[in-house]
Amino acid sequence: MSSERPVQPARGLLLVLSAPSGAGKTTLAHRLIRDTPGSTFSVSFTTRKPRGQEKDGIDYRFVDVKTFQEKIERDEFVEWAEVHGHFYGSCRAVVQDATARRSMALFDIDVQGGLAIKARYPEAVLVFILPPSLEELERRLRDRGTDADETIRKRMLAARSEMERGAASYDFVIVNDDFERAYSELRSVLIAERCRRERLELGFMRRG
Ligand code: 5GP
Repeated sequence: MSSERPVQPARGLLLVLSAPSGAGKTTLAHRLIRDTPGSTFSVSFTTRKPRGQEKDGIDYRFVDVKTFQEKIERDEFVEWAEVHGHFYGSCRAVVQDATARRSMALFDIDVQGGLAIKARYPEAVLVFILPPSLEELERRLRDRGTDADETIRKRMLAARSEMERGAASYDFVIVNDDFERAYSELRSVLIAERCRRERLELGFMRRG
C-alpha cells in the first residue's frame, strides 16, 4: 500500500432535500452546508418575489419570467418546475462544479425536482423531511406570518400530496419533530453515503 491515502472520493455527491414548506428543511440544509467543508448549497433561480428576510443570491436568485425562459432555452437548468404559479430551477453549473471538485452539492427543491435529478443522475441521494403532523405543519406556516390564509390553504393541500409522493419514492425519510435529532439523522445519511463503495477510488486495489 502506498503512503497516499488509500481511499479518495471518486465522485461528487448530489444530495436532494425535499419537504412540504414549513417542515424545517431549509434550516437543516443550511446547517449541513455549514458543517460540511467544501460543500455547495444550490441557490435556485425563481420568478417569485422575495419573502421576509430573503436575499437575492443567498436564498434564491430572483429573476423575471423572461430571464427564466432564456435560461431554459440556453439549457442552464438541470431541472426546473412550476410550483404554486412560479418558476423554480436548479443550475446545471452547480452539478458540474460538485462533480469536478468531488464535493457535495445540496439541493433544497420539491419532489418533482428531486425525481428529475435522480432520473438524470441515479447516484443522487434523495432525502424527504416530514413534519411531525399535518396540524403542526399548519401551525408553523401560520406562525411564519408571511402567507395569506388562501396561500396557507393551498400550501396545506400541496403538502399532503408532496408528503405522499416523497415518502413513496425517496431514498430516506426523516421526521423533523426534534431539530437536533433530525439533523443528526441527516448527517448520518451524508456520512454513510460518503462511504458507499461506488463513490470511492480504492487506490490499493490490484488491477486486472
Ligand atoms: P418556496 O416558494 O416556499 O421557497 O418554495 C416552494 C417550493 O419550491 C419548495 O418545495 C421548494 O423546495 C421548491 N423549490 C425551490 N427551488 C426549486 C428548484 O430549483 N426546483 C424545484 N423543482 N423546486 C424548487
